[in-house]
Amino acid sequence: MTANSFHPPERTLMGPGPSDVHPRILEALSRPTIGHLDPVFVGMMEEVKGLLQYAFQTENALTLPVSAPGSAGMEMCFANLVEPGDTVVVCKNGVFGERMKENVERCGGTPVMVEEEWGAPVDPARAEEALKAHPEAKILAFVHAETSTGAQSDAATLAKLARDHDCLTIVDTVTSLGGSPLKVDEWGLDAVYSGTQKCLSCVPGLSPVTFSQRAVDAIQARSTKVQSWFLDLNLVMGYWGSGGGKRAYHHTAPINPLYGLHEALTILQEEGLENTWDRHQRMHEALKAGIEAMGLSFFVEEPHRLPQLNSVTIPAGIDDEAAVRTRLLEQYNLEIGAGLGSMAGKIWRIGLMGHSANPTNILNCLGALEGVLSDMGADITTGKAISAAMAKLG
Ligand SMILES: *Cc1c(COP(=O)(O)O)cnc(C)c1O
Repeated sequence: MTANSFHPPERTLMGPGPSDVHPRILEALSRPTIGHLDPVFVGMMEEVKGLLQYAFQTENALTLPVSAPGSAGMEMCFANLVEPGDTVVVCKNGVFGERMKENVERCGGTPVMVEEEWGAPVDPARAEEALKAHPEAKILAFVHAETSTGAQSDAATLAKLARDHDCLTIVDTVTSLGGSPLKVDEWGLDAVYSGTQKCLSCVPGLSPVTFSQRAVDAIQARSTKVQSWFLDLNLVMGYWGSGGGKRAYHHTAPINPLYGLHEALTILQEEGLENTWDRHQRMHEALKAGIEAMGLSFFVEEPHRLPQLNSVTIPAGIDDEAAVRTRLLEQYNLEIGAGLGSMAGKIWRIGLMGHSANPTNILNCLGALEGVLSDMGADITTGKAISAAMAKLG
């Protein structure tokens, strides 16, 4: 067979990730590949660590990007902190809490589940009950920004409860990093993982992680070896260096994707973290005005809504929601997300992540959605969404 070069179409990515990759990042990815132990590359690795500390708002020395997607960062946290026989309180309010449970079980731990309705945040009172009922628990695990529903949980309060009960925290910040306030040190989070393709607007395939001293102490006090060789932090630390020592070869870092992450974090620093959070909030307000003017409603209650992930209920008159997404993709090159798990067929997930959170995308999305929905006979109000959004955009 003769293959031709692959040229993907130009899409606008407004789903649950990946988000639109900034052109500066695409350009950075195409720079010449150099050796992963080249002193120039090692210097860049150091800068990436510093930039990640800023993004996470932490002084943790053990802050680095794992060479694999967000799920690997998740696995690294569980594999290093959970030993056979450990009890872990896992809060579940969507798809990703369920994956945490799987991770605990595969590490030989016992999960104690605190389950909420989908769309609701984790209830700190119920997490506290579980911690009280299980004084043997070693870890409290929860998702800060649940991408499957668009609900945000109170990470600061949950982390305080964990400390009061002498537990470490494992926190999923894949969708919150760079999108909405996340303060690792101020909130006292211990093992935190994220991803690059959501609000950092970088390519997928890397997972920024950060570990507090308490977490590092717990890892060093393990009585068993970490089951995963690739994700064993003791080995990974020798490669990423903590304290400027000589680097030992562990694996070959994904060199060009790391150029991309460096650029993404540089862009974040230039805009300023607070400004970035503020932009996501303002863009959410504009999208919300348009969505509501169309007569559609939000799935998550207002105080717990994530600005970067908007779950919108599917209007009456639409029996085949997938056909709506297909038309958006084919006619408008616009991707929005379907509902996951039990939310399939009930909601759409409209992402406003990173570079995708901009006025042009919002107006395009509202215009395209309104056009397709009214054409397909949905029960919506037409002619109001764009002006409602524009009033918010100012
Ligand atoms: C996307 C996502 C993940 C998984 O990240 P991958 O890069 O797809 O492995 C984990 N948790 C949350 C909350 C996510 O949104």
